[in-house]
Amino acid sequence: MKSATDLLITRTYTEIWERGEEYAKSGRVRIASSNEREVEAFVKGTELYKVKLKFSGAGISKNCNCPYSHGASAKHSPCKHMIAVAILWDESKGIEPPSKDEIEFETIPPPLVTRSQYVALFKSPLKADLELLRIAAEEIGSWSRPHSRLPNMPKFSSNENEPLSIKEIRKSFREIASWTNRRRYDYYFCAGEMVAAFCEVMRLVKKRLRVSSPLETAEIIREAQKFHYELVMGLIDDSDGLHEFTEAHLEDVYNHLKKMPVEDVEKDALARKLKEFENHRNDY
Ligand SMILES: [Zn+2]
Repeated sequence: MKSATDLLITRTYTEIWERGEEYAKSGRVRIASSNEREVEAFVKGTELYKVKLKFSGAGISKNCNCPYSHGASAKHSPCKHMIAVAILWDESKGIEPPSKDEIEFETIPPPLVTRSQYVALFKSPLKADLELLRIAAEEIGSWSRPHSRLPNMPKFSSNENEPLSIKEIRKSFREIASWTNRRRYDYYFCAGEMVAAFCEVMRLVKKRLRVSSPLETAEIIREAQKFHYELVMGLIDDSDGLHEFTEAHLEDVYNHLKKMPVEDVEKDALARKLKEFENHRNDY
């Protein structure tokens, strides 16, 4: 015999499944009509919702007039009302409900990144866990599409005793830009990884600042500023506002550079270079 719960379980979020079970147990469901093929029922939630389930081909068609089912977040995934009805419909045909283990293994687990973790990333971009930033778009969104997994960062020395060079930074930015040529590069879903790679480089720039020439570093942050604009305006879809991370990291290096001890003869040249950076802060 066909089982509605079997067909729905792998498409349902764990939390939704558990709430559907509670609804089934607490007498909120009234089955209006049912046979082997279809069921129509009313479920008492915030309001009274009408649920229809019907086997069709190898699958099941489903309908509920609750807000969850009509929101963007649940395009293809069942609501708790449907689950409650499916459980009771199965039961009326003598089909056992799924066990605790089956529920744990077959339902869709909660996202690895929650929305509140994501919001927290934006509150302190300099301390942000870049790994969360890399996966946030697909974990939080209600949809995704196949896309490349990019490297964590380009080739760039992490040796704190190695002075920075403009040549090395240019090379690392060219490498990041080249990732957009990958076959499944996605302007939206790879954006977090692109931005994270930039931030990784800037974090290393800051670490190597101590042994570097202030003048060369000033040139480097101007170069980084140019690449940051190229990145957020041309290489990614920045609709989530990820430029806040690249900007925070740029400003951080700038602030550290400003505090560096400088030889008198270099003071003017450094001030000019820093001015250039300041003048291009709003190049959008
Ligand atoms: Zn519903």
